[in-house]
Amino acid sequence: MTKILHADCDCFYAAVEMRDNPELRDIPIAVGGSAEGRGVIATCNYPARTFGIHSAMSSAQALRLCPHLTVIKPDFERYREVSAQIMAIFRELTEWVEPLSLDEAYLDISGVERFKGSGTWMAQWLKAEVLRRTGITVSIGVAPNKFLAKIASDWHKPDGLFVITPEQVDAFVAELGVDKLPGVGPATAQRLKQMNISDCTELGRCSLSILVDRFGKFGHRLYELSRGIDRRDVKVHRERKSISAENTFERDLTPAQVIAQELTPMVDKLAARIDRHGTPASSKIFIKLRFDDFTTTTLESSAMLPSITNFTELFERAWQRGQRPVRLVGVGIRLLDAEHSRQLALFGAPL
Ligand SMILES: [Mg+2]
Repeated sequence: MTKILHADCDCFYAAVEMRDNPELRDIPIAVGGSAEGRGVIATCNYPARTFGIHSAMSSAQALRLCPHLTVIKPDFERYREVSAQIMAIFRELTEWVEPLSLDEAYLDISGVERFKGSGTWMAQWLKAEVLRRTGITVSIGVAPNKFLAKIASDWHKPDGLFVITPEQVDAFVAELGVDKLPGVGPATAQRLKQMNISDCTELGRCSLSILVDRFGKFGHRLYELSRGIDRRDVKVHRERKSISAENTFERDLTPAQVIAQELTPMVDKLAARIDRHGTPASSKIFIKLRFDDFTTTTLESSAMLPSITNFTELFERAWQRGQRPVRLVGVGIRLLDAEHSRQLALFGAPL
């Protein structure tokens, strides 16, 4: 039986700020870009929410709603540190952790034997450990699938814990408003409303053919969601930090031989791999060189395209470090981590 836990920190960035500066605890604060710089609110604390402030709102508008709002410039370095601590606690429970952002993750706890397999006990332990070790409160939902676990974590937020057992799924879903379903935004909710559908009971009465007719492929998903079905797995993937190609030569080569014979096919191979991966937002190129005495050196350069000219230049500079016959050469690009680039983009910072 599948058992998914969804953990979501409560107003994470603001929570880190309040933890580190208790004077901010009871006053309305928001973390975001400056109003002058046309910034937006990334997150705000609960006192700020009573003024109607929410994330993605412009800072200027937030300040109109609450003129004494304290807007704090985000410190992602620190948030990432706390996030890594929290994710590490999740991984003490299971290796099946799928982070969605710095402060949110799905855990597949189906196979966890600790706590007698009780999702409630696991959630209680996680909440207590995260609070004790990082000072951050987490809301947790446990359910038989991702979509319900995510709704459950939001159910009693902040500092919430809500469990939907398999037996409770039908009753829970029956009452659920369609606007709570993942993928249903205001436009889809409006279209459903025109069909006199506002909750999952009403949605469940709709035939699959009508839903597919009206909503295309998403109609099939709506049909399943209204029955509490979600087949998505928890995906554990390590973020790819680099793409590279390397080659150990059959015999040691002079630098001229490397440049004449080896570099071009390696750079072509790299280019094909980059193509398969999708063009990264930003990257550095690097070269790795191993000499015949097995000493290895790596040299990287930012803001350069992975072209043969650039790799040749980088190779020549790297070779100067050892000036010996070459055993192995690697060429590659380092990727800017996706979360980092997303956060920068949110605040309009140049990449
Ligand atoms: Mg959150």
